[in-house]
Formats: sequence, structure tokens, C-alpha cells
Amino acid sequence: MKLINVRKINSNILFDIRYATTNNFTSKILYRDDSCYLLEEVAYAINNVQNELNKLGLRLVIWDAYRPLEVQEELKKYCSNTNFVSEISNHSRGISVDVSLCNLNGELLLMPTDFDDFSKKANSNYNNLDEEILKNRELLSSIMKKFNFNQNEFEWWHFDYEPLLNSPVIVDNKNII
Ligand SMILES: [Zn+2]
Repeated sequence: MKLINVRKINSNILFDIRYATTNNFTSKILYRDDSCYLLEEVAYAINNVQNELNKLGLRLVIWDAYRPLEVQEELKKYCSNTNFVSEISNHSRGISVDVSLCNLNGELLLMPTDFDDFSKKANSNYNNLDEEILKNRELLSSIMKKFNFNQNEFEWWHFDYEPLLNSPVIVDNKNII
């Protein structure tokens, strides 16, 4: 299955690919560039999420998508908690995205934590939060769910594309377009 660059299919999405910058928990640039790849079917599902958000005057923020295996190996050196950095990530299968929401001015909606926060506040069931934050997290989760993305229980920002979750996905990263 081929990976496609989500940047080429929907310009309303705000891309903030953190591992292409030093603004991530390792403080190192781990990606060669800030492209945003997903398997084609997953990329079009994300396109549908943004089209739905257009009606609400909101934009999807993507923090991470396809993650090359060598980067996953690198991340494991920085975080040994497998709830957060797993052995084989669905990111490396091209079926997962790390996302949040922002308004049309690019201002982030209030959410429980920043990206890659390893505290209990990142737990999707953690509810000791302000009403507005809970509402925003619920909005993100319900819109993603509508397009078949399941929210991870330890990271509110991480979603796996359900239809391909249990199928053997072979990512052909030589076939990136
Ligand atoms: Zn993730």
C-alpha cells in the first residue's frame, strides 16, 4: 500500500510535524523534512475529517503521522514506557495520526496536555479537567470516530485507523508520492 503526502490533498489542515523540529520531547530533529505521510485510504479519511471540521470553522492540527522504523528505534532510547513509545508503532504502518484542533487563526483549542505529555492527564479517560477542555477533547474524539479513527487510551492525541488496524499492512516507503 502506498503512502501519500497529506499536505498535497488538504491545505486546510495545519501541519506542525514536531519530530521535524526541536519542539518535541527529545529536543532533536528526527525527520529529514516536514512531509506528512499516511496510507492512501487513511489520508483520505483524514481529508474527510477536515471537511467535517470546515463546517465548524475549525482545523485539524497534525503533530505526527507516518514514522519511519529507524525513528521509532531512536524514540525508544528516550522513552522506555511502552504505553507511550511502543515496540512496533502503528505510526510505522502508516495508519496512525497524532492530532489536535485549532481555530481558523491557527490558535490551538484548549486540550488536556501538549503533544507527547507522559503524565496521567494524557489519558483519554482522565476527567479532572475544566469543562471546556473536556468538551474540546470530546469533540476531537467524536469527529475522528465518525471517520473510523479510534482514540488511544493513554494519549488523547493518538488515533488509529480502525479498518486497517488488524490487517497486515505493508508500507512500501519506496513508493512515496
Ligand atoms: Zn501517536
